[in-house]
Amino acid sequence: MAWAQRVLREYVLPELGPAVVIDWLTEPDHSQHGLGVGSPAARAAIRRDDREIARVLQTIDGLGLTASTDVFVVSDHGFSTNTAGVDVVGELIGAGLKAARDSDDVVPASSGQALALHVKDHDGERIARIVRFVQSREWGGVLFTAAAGPGTAHGGVAGTFSLELIHAANPERGPDMLLTFPWTSRPNAFGVPGTDRACVASGAAPLISDHGSMSPWNVRNTCLAWGVDFKRGATVRVPAGNVDVTPTILALLGIADRDGLDGRVLAEALADGPDPEQVTFDTVTRTVEAGTYRAVIQVSVLDGRRYVDKSWRLR
Ligand SMILES: [Zn+2]
Repeated sequence: MAWAQRVLREYVLPELGPAVVIDWLTEPDHSQHGLGVGSPAARAAIRRDDREIARVLQTIDGLGLTASTDVFVVSDHGFSTNTAGVDVVGELIGAGLKAARDSDDVVPASSGQALALHVKDHDGERIARIVRFVQSREWGGVLFTAAAGPGTAHGGVAGTFSLELIHAANPERGPDMLLTFPWTSRPNAFGVPGTDRACVASGAAPLISDHGSMSPWNVRNTCLAWGVDFKRGATVRVPAGNVDVTPTILALLGIADRDGLDGRVLAEALADGPDPEQVTFDTVTRTVEAGTYRAVIQVSVLDGRRYVDKSWRLR
């Protein structure tokens, strides 16, 4: 990483005077996927990140920029420990819902602890049969399908929530359904809470830890903000997401035109913003059911923006 510091110090900041610099720290992603969240290797990687960020701050300070700089540290996902793998495609083939592993009638797109399915011709009959099959399985978690109607939380298939509700609907690229697995808050071998299951190919082992889950251990990720414009030492419990980082940066740069962005300005984190404990938001839970299958989702709404907290299957 020393070269990155040199590039930053000698070229980027003095020469270009950039408004925003992105420093991508790839670890502890691989160590946590491969060796486990909270593993000694992952903790060592986080300590290295800490030193790396310290070097960046020293560099900024050495350039006399501290009084005009804000720093965000964010991760793109949390982590939870896989306790098993589920060969969903194999299960669908076995149930007669997909012709073969390489058939295009049902195309899977896995993100580990969640699986998106694209169904040929958006065949509603097949989508409903797959939903009912997954709901009948012990490994079946919460499912999402196209909304039953405009703006509704319920999916078109009984016992599902809408893809729109979790911001996963897209007329061109969106899946026809999304499925997740049951999760727990049990700790792993390193004492870090959160277990789940992951989608795997036949006979393959899942990664040790993974993303994609709808558990709070995974939906909640890292977001730290530090600098001249932020409150000091404050813990903000107001719903927020990575989607809010860009609007906040634009606001800090004095750019008022933020039309078309989904996120909001994290005003409660700003030094001159409202007290975070006095920001109003609503947290609601919704339930869906189909026969004996029941599932819950918790969503928080602030300033018209929807934040998905977690969803789980009721047993
Ligand atoms: Zn990752």
